[in-house]
Amino acid sequence: MSRFFSKKYDGLVPYTAGEQPKDCDYIKLNTNESPFPLSENAKRFAKEALNKTNLYPDPDCRDLHKAISNMLGVSPDEVLATNGSDEILNFAFMAFCDKEHTAVFPNITYGFYKVFAEINGIPYEEIPLTENFEIDFRDYISINKNIFIANPNAPTGISLTLPQIEEIVKSNPDNIVVIDEAYVDFGGESCVPLIKKYDNLLVTQTFSKSRSMAGARLGFGVAAKELIQDLYKIKYSTNPYNVNSITAALGIGVLKDVETTKRNCDEIVKNREYTKSKLEKLGFSVTNSSANFLFARHNKISGFNLYEELKKRGILVRHFPKKEICDFNRITIGSIDEMRILIDTIKDILEV
Ligand code: PMP
Repeated sequence: MSRFFSKKYDGLVPYTAGEQPKDCDYIKLNTNESPFPLSENAKRFAKEALNKTNLYPDPDCRDLHKAISNMLGVSPDEVLATNGSDEILNFAFMAFCDKEHTAVFPNITYGFYKVFAEINGIPYEEIPLTENFEIDFRDYISINKNIFIANPNAPTGISLTLPQIEEIVKSNPDNIVVIDEAYVDFGGESCVPLIKKYDNLLVTQTFSKSRSMAGARLGFGVAAKELIQDLYKIKYSTNPYNVNSITAALGIGVLKDVETTKRNCDEIVKNREYTKSKLEKLGFSVTNSSANFLFARHNKISGFNLYEELKKRGILVRHFPKKEICDFNRITIGSIDEMRILIDTIKDILEV
């Protein structure tokens, strides 16, 4: 750190991204990416944009907002596209939280919430999960703080139901509730329709997981028009061209290819259930995930040892050192061939 780095960041611990190794061809099951290539249709769309990179992109993302709003059955002014959903989450902390309007989120959840709170100087509270690693929705009823919940939660993959989400939103009318639906396309139930009923709900989603666009960085928020206008204000005060023209074109193209996205999601769900049952037969306890990953532990091998042994054999999974979950590994669901190799490798490690 240089002597110039502001003291205001003294306590800041940055988010630790999953490993993206360059040195060896791993089977990569550590960052919840899609194992499938991007839709050819999306690539065709981007070709035109490639010829126009001398111009700035449309800062209002009009065509993209239209395409996203069509998909969701909302109006374009209820949508804001961002550079990955990480950006809209940060915008939400910036727009709605301060010392009087503090934040609350589960103590096991997406690690970035804490970082966004810290970097924006926002006090926050973390509420423990139940002993089954579930979010107890009753903990958030009338809590009178801005609430951030990943649904399905990460890294557990466990979902709250729509009525539970609605209870939380309804009971906190003077606070914002952000529901992060990064993993909703793999069997979860979206609460987007509730934005018509509640002016305090912001739903965020991403193109990174179900639409094979993690590398292109595209996410979005959906909410009542007034909330979206607030978020626009933050966008135009930080980075008006946050979504580049090639990514916007890819996003529009991928939304036109609904069949590919659906086929890929169905395949992930099938592979998830296959992998879960194989892991359970090997003695793992596995949470009930509705995401594109499993969260699993085994009482004969520690989470870290399993992570290391898999890595030695060319498979990367995600291990979190946090004490409450250090027995677990989060395993991204890949292609069926990758899942078969994973299971055979685990059998080899466990010597069964
Ligand atoms: N929310 C959750 C729960 C996530 O796991 C991730 C992925 N790391 C994100 C949001 C952000 O994803 P992206 O910025 O790629 O849209």
